[in-house]
Amino acid sequence: MTVPLDRTKPAHSVSKATSGNNAIALKCRDCGTEYPLEKQRLCKVCNGALEVIYDFSLLDSKSLIREIEAGPQSMWRYAALLPARPQAYTLNEVGMTPMHRAFNLGKRLGLNKLYIKNDALNPTHSFKDRPVAVAVAKALELGADTLACVSTGNLAGSVAAAGARAGLKTYVFVPADIEPGKILMAQIYGATIVAVNGTFDQANTLAAQVAEKYGWAFVNITMRPYYKQGSKTLAFETAEQLGWRLPDHVLLPVGSGSLYAMTVKGFEELINLGLVADQTMPRISGAQPEGCNPVAQAYLSGATQFTPVTQPRTLAYSLAIGNPSDGNFDLKQARRINGMMEQVSDAETITAIKLLAATEGIFTEPAGGVTLAGLKKLVEAGKIGKDESVVLYITGNGLKTQDALEGQMAENRPVAANLAAFDRWLG
Ligand SMILES: *Cc1c(COP(=O)(O)O)cnc(C)c1O
Ligand SMILES: [Zn+2]
Repeated sequence: MTVPLDRTKPAHSVSKATSGNNAIALKCRDCGTEYPLEKQRLCKVCNGALEVIYDFSLLDSKSLIREIEAGPQSMWRYAALLPARPQAYTLNEVGMTPMHRAFNLGKRLGLNKLYIKNDALNPTHSFKDRPVAVAVAKALELGADTLACVSTGNLAGSVAAAGARAGLKTYVFVPADIEPGKILMAQIYGATIVAVNGTFDQANTLAAQVAEKYGWAFVNITMRPYYKQGSKTLAFETAEQLGWRLPDHVLLPVGSGSLYAMTVKGFEELINLGLVADQTMPRISGAQPEGCNPVAQAYLSGATQFTPVTQPRTLAYSLAIGNPSDGNFDLKQARRINGMMEQVSDAETITAIKLLAATEGIFTEPAGGVTLAGLKKLVEAGKIGKDESVVLYITGNGLKTQDALEGQMAENRPVAANLAAFDRWLG
């Protein structure tokens, strides 16, 4: 007899200190004004972005590590460092994706200690499941009945799936020209698609007005402070999977810039809480496509503020955000921690997608190709040393973006169904 899972119970039991209760307020990143932990993303005084702040004084590093290691095989093992608890109806299987030593790709790039963190292996095949998990858990805590997002593609699928599990009405705003595979995914989970004629940034402006008027829990607008925190778990897992050590360098893609910001934050929390032996902050470098490169362009030209890209032109739709909300913050962080920002062409992206697939058996979407191409450029320029430990984040799955490779593969040469014909075919 099979026993159905009891989803009315929490996914796991945890002590007070580790139950996601350490968040104390939202705080403006610019002027420092504090607000209660509610649905709000911008400071009422100065319009700055709000961040979750914590009181970690109850935490003791040794017992925290023990509790994490005894926790669920998911990102919720780090609940103590997140602003929400896993709820009975959230996708609690997100995270703890595999990380492996990439010997083949390392050899091709000339890196002796290269690792790949394959975050395409989340329930909806992108790292977006992490921020969404926290935003939805918090939305349920706050009693939301409607979930929403504005998306370049992956977020739509992730929010739609989470909304289905949570039993919430779900709306996803997308630019009307996103990849059909990503729309299909959001639709199959039952979300209502709002296909906006315009760029992501235009869809975003409309969504912000809708969020204001209808009060829906927009995961990356009104729930954004909580949403962002979920991305820290990639850094936590990286360290834990290295045996509570830090890598020398991490390479990741930059779209809205929140993954970059939160990876910096995640590693800093590990150091400050004494969860890792190392005290040296990893260098964290970001990559963008040339056709939508506001952050990389500003970094490379020495500017402190990016210039928005009004018409993104890239096959890396996930990164086609011309006016990234964490862009200027990331520029500041990159300079502070000695990270770099690189840009690559679509042709370099496609070459990198093929290289990753042929060496490591991983089929990534263009965002992963951009990241690998960026790593390759930095290595070739001598900016990353061959003995540095480097972790490459692969954030999304290529099966959702097959149109990006149209015309790129060899044509089939059909063969007659007899052995003689096969002999000739093999040549
Ligand atoms: C959203 C997304 C990114 C960019 O993340 P940001 O936090 O917006 O910078 C990168 N890769 C994939 C696959 C994504 O879906
Ligand atoms: Zn402020």
